[in-house]
Amino acid sequence: VKKDGELAYKIWLEDSFGNLPVRMGEMQTADRKICIVTDDIVGKLYAGEVEGLLAPVCKEICVFTFPAGEASKTLDTVRNLYEYLINEHFERKDLLVALGGGVTGDLTGFAAATYLRGIDFVQVPTTLLSQVDSSIGGKTGVDFDSYKNMVGAFYQPKMVYVNVGALKTLTDEQFYCGMGEVLKHGLIKSADYYEWVIEHLSEICEREQDVLGALVRESLKIKRYVVEKDPLEKGDRALLNFGHTIGHAVEKLKNFSILHGQCVALGYVAASYISWKRGMLSNEEFFEIRDMNVGFDLPISFDGLDTEEILQATKLDKKMEKGQIKFILLKGIGEAYVDLTVTDDEIREAVNYLNADL
Ligand code: NAD
Ligand code: ZN
Repeated sequence: VKKDGELAYKIWLEDSFGNLPVRMGEMQTADRKICIVTDDIVGKLYAGEVEGLLAPVCKEICVFTFPAGEASKTLDTVRNLYEYLINEHFERKDLLVALGGGVTGDLTGFAAATYLRGIDFVQVPTTLLSQVDSSIGGKTGVDFDSYKNMVGAFYQPKMVYVNVGALKTLTDEQFYCGMGEVLKHGLIKSADYYEWVIEHLSEICEREQDVLGALVRESLKIKRYVVEKDPLEKGDRALLNFGHTIGHAVEKLKNFSILHGQCVALGYVAASYISWKRGMLSNEEFFEIRDMNVGFDLPISFDGLDTEEILQATKLDKKMEKGQIKFILLKGIGEAYVDLTVTDDEIREAVNYLNADL
């Protein structure tokens, strides 16, 4: 991020990995080593292809693979990666390529930020969630004990290369999980985009390449716009936390057995419920938000969680200001704002609504 807040790196939107060597061209890779960091699922699918494409344009290439899943987003994996890089004699001028979802991107970015006090890295996100969300914005890090993203750094990639074609191999569950963040982007910043997503529901679910390209482009634009205005999260970037206050609480209390995007989707139904009860959303708008979750196979309710426990967990969330939760509410579709006045009773009512038999 430059001083004026503009992103200092390029984001390429492509439909294959084919242009990776060309896009990496400006990074003068000819005399640099590259380490592709990936998990074992993505590695099997794509590491061979990416390695083959990049080998001719760099000095030396290798692949570091770790077991797929959130459980790998730890200092242990980062430690293994440091060891691997030391054994391979990686120097300051060399380069890491994060090939995979948000777990890969977050931990590779953190390793890049800290190995030899910082080496360059490139994001090649392969999940919908990482393409529209986690690969942009420079938040890197790992989980620590049971705390999510507890240790990390703001560290920007040199480039982000988004291959929408990779989305075709995602499981339905992972794909729809990404839709939670996509819908969130529309709800907080753009009613037009939100309506467009609704109109293209069936093409999106069919994963039509052209439609996915347009979807990722617009969603990325919103994330980029918000992040550029507020790179270090001092103000407006908080809007991206829409759905995350209650979402994180559910995620934690369910021991991460529900995917992040699904928890966010639940969380924004609750936040929308509060907005609706305050008269800022019409009946039509509120029920449309719920219906869209159903359309994209995202949850609108859960059972077995205690309202008081969720309420307490929301208070442990990092996003507090002067002891008050920074709650993100909607003034309307596409218009989010930070509200510091949400009461415990409002949260209870919203959580009870999620917990109810619908
Ligand atoms: P993930 O990286 O674990 O990927 C999900 C699963 O999909 C994994 O099993 C992976 O192997 C598989 N996968 C990835 N790409 C695939 C493909 N193209 N085809 C088939 N399978 C594929 O998880 P995620 O949902 O991408 O990201 C979640 C992580 O992102 C969380 O740790 C979260 O904290 C983090 N996150 C970070 C930010 C940020 O700003 N840095 C923002 C949001 C989320
Ligand atoms: Zn999120």
